[in-house]
Amino acid sequence: MLRLHDTATGEVRELALREPGKLSLYVCGPTVYDVPHIGHARSVLTYDVLRRYAQWLGWEVTHAANITDVDDNIINRANREGRTEPEVAAEYEAVWWDAMDRLGALRPNHVPHATEYVPRMVELVTELADRGLAYETSDGVYLDTSKVEGYGLLAQQSLDDLRAGARVEANDEKRSPLDFVLWKKAKPDEPSWPSPWGDGRPGWHTECVVMSLDLLGEGFDVHGGGQDLKFPHHENERAQAVALGKTFVRHWVHNGWVVVEGTKMSKSLGNFTTLLDFLDRVDRRAYRLMVLQAHYRGPIEVTPDVAAAAEASLRRLDEFARNTAGLAGEPDEERLADFRVAMDDDLDTPRAMALLFTLVTEGNRAIGEGDEARAGAVAATVRAIAEAVGLELGGSDDDELPPDVADLVARRDAARSSKDWAAADAARDELVALGWLVEDTPAGTRVRRS
Ligand SMILES: [Zn+2]
Repeated sequence: MLRLHDTATGEVRELALREPGKLSLYVCGPTVYDVPHIGHARSVLTYDVLRRYAQWLGWEVTHAANITDVDDNIINRANREGRTEPEVAAEYEAVWWDAMDRLGALRPNHVPHATEYVPRMVELVTELADRGLAYETSDGVYLDTSKVEGYGLLAQQSLDDLRAGARVEANDEKRSPLDFVLWKKAKPDEPSWPSPWGDGRPGWHTECVVMSLDLLGEGFDVHGGGQDLKFPHHENERAQAVALGKTFVRHWVHNGWVVVEGTKMSKSLGNFTTLLDFLDRVDRRAYRLMVLQAHYRGPIEVTPDVAAAAEASLRRLDEFARNTAGLAGEPDEERLADFRVAMDDDLDTPRAMALLFTLVTEGNRAIGEGDEARAGAVAATVRAIAEAVGLELGGSDDDELPPDVADLVARRDAARSSKDWAAADAARDELVALGWLVEDTPAGTRVRRS
């Protein structure tokens, strides 16, 4: 039984699926006006781990994540660069998917774009206005949050506190500072669509509520995002569903912050400036391991030191995977049960990763003792756990051996199996001369750079 923290109730509780064995998951996606930053990757990987674990449990997952392809930032960039909004959005969406692929994140099953959903958003705003829950001003249409029961639930603050903290805006036509825009009337030269209130475009908060209900249906299972989205974005999505009398989502999940060393990002500190910078400089699996080694609700630090530690851990895993590649075995059910207990406890991935590395130590000991049966079982367990959380083992592509080295390894293996020790030693000496460390394992000769 998977238990997850629910922001709406403030407690860890069972994820009671709408339909047994089927998980519907909506995650807020990017606004595509710039390259992805370090924080985006954490959110994506958090829900990628949840999705992969659910699939590993045998659940059927439907995962939707939107692309916001119209907004002020996109319009500003297009104006600045003398391009159209669709050109800007298409460019940065392509960069986004390239980065997500490099991170090893599974592509969502549905990727709704805001611009494809405008007519449906107009329908929703019309319905809210018809019910007297929204009102028109000179610059748009706003939701009257005073008419929404329980407004402020996700913020976990009183309405008075929320009102006090709300930004004071120039717009004095709003009935309350908490009211938010559903439809923005177009300014000159902005992209716009027709509506009963004249040409304009939808507000951001309307996007996700319309898309998630359309693609996943009422009462879908999990709505996720970074904790910065709790309020006002998710609260405002929720408010629209509540106002329309719709059952929205069963479980709200929010992941923690990314802390970048010190007070600010600085190239001179060697810190990562963007996600692409990270992916260019570090093993692409390192970010996933960093996410896994922290609890998803806590903060993580993404610094060169933390990344280097993750890379060292990956090398340890890879070495173990290579050394046990030829061993047969079934996973140790007891250890897999331990893994499930950790994951089911609000995705306690730090505990799951501690278990994984304990298994590697145990497996290495078994290899040292010549206990191939135990080493094989441990290796199968390690592979199963790694698969469940999306960690690829055995080294990334750039770990492939150069042809001359692969040749020498094959020569040494052949010599050893025909007990030609002189030839085996000669191959080893050549490998060492080329700068490789040579190990004999049950699966044959293994080399790594010295
Ligand atoms: Zn959203």
